[in-house]
Amino acid sequence: MLRLVGKGAVITGGGRGIGAAVARGLVEEGASVVLAARTVAQVEAVAEELTADGHRAWAVPCDVTDPEQVANLAAVANDHLGKIDILVNNAGIAIAGPVKSIRLKDWEKVMAVNTTGTFLCARAMMPAMAERGWGRVVNVASIAGLAAGQYISAYAASKHAVIGFTRAAAAEMAAHGVTVNAVCPGYVETAMTEKTLDNIEAKTQLGRDQGRKMLEKVSPQERLFAPEEVAYLVLCLCDPRARGVNGHALVLDGGALHTA
Ligand code: NAP
Repeated sequence: MLRLVGKGAVITGGGRGIGAAVARGLVEEGASVVLAARTVAQVEAVAEELTADGHRAWAVPCDVTDPEQVANLAAVANDHLGKIDILVNNAGIAIAGPVKSIRLKDWEKVMAVNTTGTFLCARAMMPAMAERGWGRVVNVASIAGLAAGQYISAYAASKHAVIGFTRAAAAEMAAHGVTVNAVCPGYVETAMTEKTLDNIEAKTQLGRDQGRKMLEKVSPQERLFAPEEVAYLVLCLCDPRARGVNGHALVLDGGALHTA
């Protein structure tokens, strides 16, 4: 039985990686989807692939840091979907480096996409869910939203903020049939992690394979996670049966967070 037939979903950062896997997961449960990101060709390619497989999917260009583009996304998504029942705030960037050398403009960029983008999209799309009495907001945070290590201060700050926002928004939505949760993956096999590996290769003595091993060892399962594993968690939270799960940050890390 498909659980999300008749539901309309917006996925930011839907052009590749985790967002594209989430979109695929949602349509396979019967939802219709709108994919948003800045690189039009990527969101269009994912939407076309899903449409070719018989699903309902549209691409909308949007920079989530711009309130006007977010308002346009909400309006166009409403036109395509009829209503927005599910919002997956997945758009994100990572910029790494020691605190002493992080440029203010890079700090602000990370906060603008990861934190402010999440707020702007929720502000634009969540109130109508509350009015209709059903909705799901899933924010793709990170294990760096709950713990942190060296060289990721901007990213960790932005994701900790996403989790704080998730908890507060969940409290506001609790009486209105809308849940707001976060998912917190460890390292996932995507372009973002490839960029992290580029960085490790450029700035340390480690070769690519050694860098990869180092990232794998962050989890006691000693592996990177697949985008589909994150998508599965998002799907669980969107399932109508998950209506009691609200304000949580679900961790996908193979057990890293609580392993000494
Ligand atoms: P990715 O492959 O780099 O994809 C990021 C997506 O976000 C792209 O579609 C990108 O498209 C979009 N995006 C970036 N800036 C945007 C903006 N200003 N407006 C709209 N869209 C924007 O990375 P990913 O690994 O799939 O990451 C997805 C989410 O998971 C992020 O929030 C990330 O922080 C989180 N996460 C990733 C990992 C990991 O190890 N990969 C672990 C934990 C959490 P455009 O550049 O075309 O806009």
